[in-house]
Amino acid sequence: MKICLIGASSSAIFYLYILSNFLKENVLNLKDLTIDIIVLEKNKVIGRKFLATGNGRCNIANKITTDFSYNNSETYDVYNEFDNQSIIDYFEKHGLKLDISKENYDSFVYPYSKSAKSTLNLLLSIINNNFSYINSTSKKFKINLTYSIEEKFLDYQEKGDLILIKTDKRTIEANKIIFANGGMSSPSLGSDGSIYGILKKHGIKVIEPHAGLSPIRVKNNFSEIENERLKIKAKLRLKEVKYEEVGEVIFKKNYVSGIVAFNIYSIIKRLSFVKNIKDISLTLDLIPTINKYEELLEYTKQLGSLFLFGIFSTNIAKYLSKFLKLDINKKYLQLNENEVKVIFENLKNFKIDYALEDDFKSSQVTIGGVSYSNLDLSSLNSKSNKNIYFIGEILDSDGLCGGYNLMFCFSSAMKVVKSISSDFLNHPSI
Ligand SMILES: Cc1cc2nc3c(=O)[nH]c(=O)nc-3n(C[C@H](O)[C@H](O)[C@H](O)COP(=O)(O)OP(=O)(O)OC[C@H]3O[C@@H](n4cnc5c(N)ncnc54)[C@H](O)[C@@H]3O)c2cc1C
Repeated sequence: MKICLIGASSSAIFYLYILSNFLKENVLNLKDLTIDIIVLEKNKVIGRKFLATGNGRCNIANKITTDFSYNNSETYDVYNEFDNQSIIDYFEKHGLKLDISKENYDSFVYPYSKSAKSTLNLLLSIINNNFSYINSTSKKFKINLTYSIEEKFLDYQEKGDLILIKTDKRTIEANKIIFANGGMSSPSLGSDGSIYGILKKHGIKVIEPHAGLSPIRVKNNFSEIENERLKIKAKLRLKEVKYEEVGEVIFKKNYVSGIVAFNIYSIIKRLSFVKNIKDISLTLDLIPTINKYEELLEYTKQLGSLFLFGIFSTNIAKYLSKFLKLDINKKYLQLNENEVKVIFENLKNFKIDYALEDDFKSSQVTIGGVSYSNLDLSSLNSKSNKNIYFIGEILDSDGLCGGYNLMFCFSSAMKVVKSISSDFLNHPSI
């Protein structure tokens, strides 16, 4: 049997890791079979995007999932079958020690090494060791794994039970093909979205891709506060949806960056393009720890119109003084109660005038992709050809920042390992 994996990054590596553990655990129950797995990767190296995750520290999971963590019910269906706790337990049981302590964002989970490079090397070694163990232990079952780097998948053709895979170097005859070649975000790291056109030609429905987890492009001009950081509460409002998140943002001339900004942008995109909801208002609470205007009033009694300089950095205070039309040249100019009320409301609801255009270069995940309507959701294979599978970001799946995308890669890879497992075993696994 020949299995061809397209792409050698997060979801493909997880697939091989889970498969190798599964076969090792069932080594005495394997069929009389030879499996050739060929992994095609157009980059010069394996796992280029995986290496970039979490700023090279690899934010691999999250202890909390909410209604906003993923984009749609099908993504949750796949994820829920093998969720965060199962993933954390799985890694710990299969050689990857995790750091689940409270650090930075409380719920983010990293490998103990805090290194994507070490994690990738470890997973690749586990895969190789497991396959060697299986080959030396099982008399009848053999598995051969080949990574073919700098080989680009171009197209495929269905020929009876086989799939002819056309690359820029040759044609490969395979029994199964697993698409693990990602979306179109950060194209310099690998995937550029060219796959969507190829799949559409084969009748596979693709939900129009948009850039997610990206800095928020704004029409406001923040050049005076460029590179300033501020802890805020971002508030999205529209009729039926209310989303709030607290965190640090970084102001740039024409955009706002930081994890909160990335998440907010994904949610706006999901709502605007997928659900076709317009008029979503985005405001920032610039003083999230001050909850009553009386607190501010008390403070202004000490510093008058200069009070902003006691709360914000000099640049932000100057910017906001201008915005609020406060005369900072007249020192200690007292503000009356009504003036403080208005200032309080303005600081609590600072309006962000966002722009929606896609910037895939700075995006970390693609919203949209291969529609679940093409697939048998229980096994992630194509409804029209059961030997064609999809895992990871190529699917119409997107998660927020915090390990959700790698968790989805893992859960979807687990689903495909499980769905093919009976092909390898003499007796169903217990
Ligand atoms: C900077 C950055 C930081 C991130 N940090 C995190 C994080 O900390 N935690 C988290 O959960 N998620 C993070 N993500 C998102 C996460 O990395 C992706 O969702 C995940 O890697 C998707 O995995 P995948 O295997 O589906 O696709 P990819 O990782 O994109 O891998 C697809 C592979 O397929 C190859 N390929 C594409 N087309 C072809 C072709 N035609 N022929 C051959 N090969 C092909 C590509 O070169 C690539 O190697 C981050 C993303 C970015 C860009």
